Amino acid sequence: MLTVLTVDEAQNRVLSSMGGKTVGAEEIDIFAALGRVLAGDIFSPGHIPPFPRATMDGFAVSSSDTFGATEDIPALLMLKGEILMGLPPPGGLAMGEAMSISTGGMLPSGSDSVVMVEHCDILGDQLAVYRPVAPLENMILAGDDFQKNEIVLRKGHLLRSQDIGLLAALGLLQVKVYKRPRVIIISTGDELVTPDKNPGPGQIRDINGYALYAQVLENGAEPHYLGLFPDRKDALLEVLQDSLHQADAILISGGTSVGRRDVTVRVLDGLPGEGVHFHGVSMKPGKPVIYATSNGMPIFGLSGNPVSAMFSFLLFVRPLLRSLQGLSPFLPHQPGVEALLDTNFSSPSGREDYVRVVLSRAKDGTYGEKPRATPVFGVSSLLQTMIKGDGYFVVPRDIEGLVEGSPVHVILF
Ligand code: AMP
Ligand code: MG
Repeated sequence: MLTVLTVDEAQNRVLSSMGGKTVGAEEIDIFAALGRVLAGDIFSPGHIPPFPRATMDGFAVSSSDTFGATEDIPALLMLKGEILMGLPPPGGLAMGEAMSISTGGMLPSGSDSVVMVEHCDILGDQLAVYRPVAPLENMILAGDDFQKNEIVLRKGHLLRSQDIGLLAALGLLQVKVYKRPRVIIISTGDELVTPDKNPGPGQIRDINGYALYAQVLENGAEPHYLGLFPDRKDALLEVLQDSLHQADAILISGGTSVGRRDVTVRVLDGLPGEGVHFHGVSMKPGKPVIYATSNGMPIFGLSGNPVSAMFSFLLFVRPLLRSLQGLSPFLPHQPGVEALLDTNFSSPSGREDYVRVVLSRAKDGTYGEKPRATPVFGVSSLLQTMIKGDGYFVVPRDIEGLVEGSPVHVILF
């Protein structure tokens, strides 16, 4: 029996069944930390930069010594040597003095600004300054970037390359991140053969084992593919029982419909613990999806149809994997482009439709500046819709269709 939920309801049931649980944390080298999620706040142990620095090549001065300087009547200062990179200044600066400095060099005490080299001339042991500088011009103060003890990155933050650079700046070569959730992947179906084989009549190569593996990787988790299993309750039960204590989530593809050979739901209902939370979501593709837990272990039964399996992954598995890693389950916004539909599109109400489209540039003025979105026609379950499509838009449940020229938000693959 399919007790069909809306996409929202199904997502909520998945997330609430886990109650915000996360996988444990581990300390890793920052070279390996790209794409990982912080398991604690990061504080700056000191000021960044640790000392006042020049942001231009020129001369460290006291700005008050340059007030009123012009091309005709330059300010004349005594040149007191050079500040070398990586070393403290050779001394402090007294009134009426200047020291040459490079970008990133440390300003001496008594200076509060840098005049650019372009605005000066060296005349023997004197410096002629042709333009005034304001206090703090062409320099930054200690702590201008980050203050000592400031929280610079928060728990739950996904580390990007710039964040790795910051950790290096702070001297933090190890960082505490959430572990990668371990995800076991099982393909079921009597008709399946491994991709190295030539399928016989009626047989097909396993696609889902590989596509789901890649989707798990794309979402920061660690896939473990266990291979092919027949449509037999005992075979599925055995592999599930072995997997229950070795993973953070289990994905089974195939056998999620209500046919005689579709054993997945019966097997999941027979596992110890809570059992099946839902079977069926009002969406296309991806309707026959099952979600169960066994003593808190999340298990998804995804349709064998590869397109359905991929969408079920995006909508239900991905939020769970994000949440297990300490991320918010959903992105604040889905990166995509605004486009205009270039044909009428009808969709039965009562379900969400995930329509794959090809994007192209407007050929004439009809569509203005926005790209055109052309639905990839043909049977929705064909893999080519995912291959030719640049992305998809969603027709909400309460809408029966869209007319040509309607604006659509295309989420890119
Ligand atoms: P099922 O969910 O078992 O009813 O399968 C739905 C469709 O997907 C059937 O046409 C299956 O042959 C096909 N299918 C099932 N599992 C896979 C798989 N791992 N790779 C490619 N196609 C599959
Ligand atoms: Mg099957």
